Amino acid sequence: MSQLPVAVIGAGPVGLAAAAHLISRGETPVIIEMGASPAANIRKWAHVRMFSPFQYNVDPASVALLEAAGWQMPDPDHLPTGADMLRDYLEPLANLPQIKANLRLNTKVVSIARAGYDKVKTARREDAPFLLHLQCNDGSEDQIYAKAVIDASGTYGNPNPLGGSGVPALGEKALSTNIFYGIPDVLGADHSRYTDKRVLVVGSGHSAFNALLDLAARLDVAQITWVTRRTNLRQLYGGGTNDQLPARGSLGQRLRAVVESGRVQLVNGYSIARLVKTPAGIVASNGTTDLDPVDEIVVATGLRPDLSIEQELRLAIDPALESVAALADVIDPNVHSCGSVPPHGAEQLLQPEKDFFIVGMKSYGRAPNFLMLTGYEQVRSVVAALVGDWESARQVHLVLPETGVCSTDFASEGAASCCTTASVEVVEVAAAASASCCNTASAEAVADAASASGCCTPISAAEQATSGACCAPATDLIQIGNSSGGCGCGSTTSAPIQLLDNVRA
Ligand SMILES: Cc1cc2nc3c(=O)[nH]c(=O)nc-3n(C[C@H](O)[C@H](O)[C@H](O)COP(=O)(O)OP(=O)(O)OC[C@H]3O[C@@H](n4cnc5c(N)ncnc54)[C@H](O)[C@@H]3O)c2cc1C
Repeated sequence: MSQLPVAVIGAGPVGLAAAAHLISRGETPVIIEMGASPAANIRKWAHVRMFSPFQYNVDPASVALLEAAGWQMPDPDHLPTGADMLRDYLEPLANLPQIKANLRLNTKVVSIARAGYDKVKTARREDAPFLLHLQCNDGSEDQIYAKAVIDASGTYGNPNPLGGSGVPALGEKALSTNIFYGIPDVLGADHSRYTDKRVLVVGSGHSAFNALLDLAARLDVAQITWVTRRTNLRQLYGGGTNDQLPARGSLGQRLRAVVESGRVQLVNGYSIARLVKTPAGIVASNGTTDLDPVDEIVVATGLRPDLSIEQELRLAIDPALESVAALADVIDPNVHSCGSVPPHGAEQLLQPEKDFFIVGMKSYGRAPNFLMLTGYEQVRSVVAALVGDWESARQVHLVLPETGVCSTDFASEGAASCCTTASVEVVEVAAAASASCCNTASAEAVADAASASGCCTPISAAEQATSGACCAPATDLIQIGNSSGGCGCGSTTSAPIQLLDNVRA
């Protein structure tokens, strides 16, 4: 078995980095990529400018191999587009002879198993090699064996649906020709699709921000409506100047300005259940309230992993995030939004199935905020472990830039709450102490938080019981779409935000 290669699934930045680390350790990997060229997922968003500069987007082992072949690092402070990343880094890396010779393009891994073993069979399971079933683009099939597998297949190929419950909305499939999942190239290849159109954008992450800003940059887009399930507008726009990646922070600030200008109509706290095609256009509904008709929909509601390929393997996957189970506590967006994740490597990524690892974007499952740097450190550690260098595998080093939105979301997104504008520390203490910041168990912390934030006026437990809210709104604040009937501390902005004026009963 030791003669077999380590199989790497996916030639994205993390899969290619895994290959580079394996090569640096004297191994010959086989890299399997379903696209016709490397980094096929990044090719889908080649027009998007990244928020981390070049220096944060490259892997040290890959850089060492590239520099040995005469490559020169681009400006480390430059913010590349996806296309820049492909041209200046990923394609040269994939074209290195040591990698190119072992890269199988146009080949999809459709299943992975232990050869001769189904999931149930245990005895001597670990002695069996992995069997990867491959589907090639020409329709042919193949099977290969591997002594270990590193799954770096990402999540970009599996977008979440539009439906607010995580399943497709009624009518979503039937109207798929009017729906774009991801970030359309509104200013380039997809330009004509949006000319004179009324466009609905769904989602609240950076992908939605990018799509909205591109649409808003065009005067010939007839109408832009932005729907998000989120109610907390302060966190909606991200960390702004507190974000340690300024380009990431500025996305939210630019979008806020566009919303405040009225160019984008924001409908927040809205969960789409149904799409209906009418003579006037496509009407989205949450079951009780319809939005104005639109012509096109952009869905940027996040991504999820395709775990079907490893159905025959024994995995520890978090039931909520579908991430590697051991990572869930530090990446759960219900609890964290900082973006700073403790360094982790092979030990945290170990699976019950020996010598099988899920890395990269896929290791985070449905959680957002994955950064390439995280993946590069993951694969450095995993490869060290696979070659038996556990000392190096355990020494994980990673300092990630924070988003500047380091606070808890969960109370603010649900029940009436003033947690959202409170100081981080107080909210976290309160949140940890009870399931709700408004719970009287954490009343003292809530009162402190409310007065520290200046957004809410703390009220007594008796008043809380009567009003059903944890605090009273400060008079100089605007009530922003807070359907919970709570204290309305959704934002501390003093500028009016266009809201719900395109909703019709
Ligand atoms: C629009 C956008 C902007 C981003 N900007 C940044 C940024 O500025 N900084 C940052 O650090 N991170 C950023 N990220 C997050 C993340 O770092 C990238 O998504 C990164 O590409 C993830 O790398 P990956 O190798 O894990 O996955 P991917 O890049 O998704 O690569 C996975 C590869 O696996 C292939 N594949 C999938 N399934 C199979 C299969 N079954 N068989 C064979 N091959 C398969 C795919 O074709 C793809 O080439 C951004 C993400 C997006 C979507």
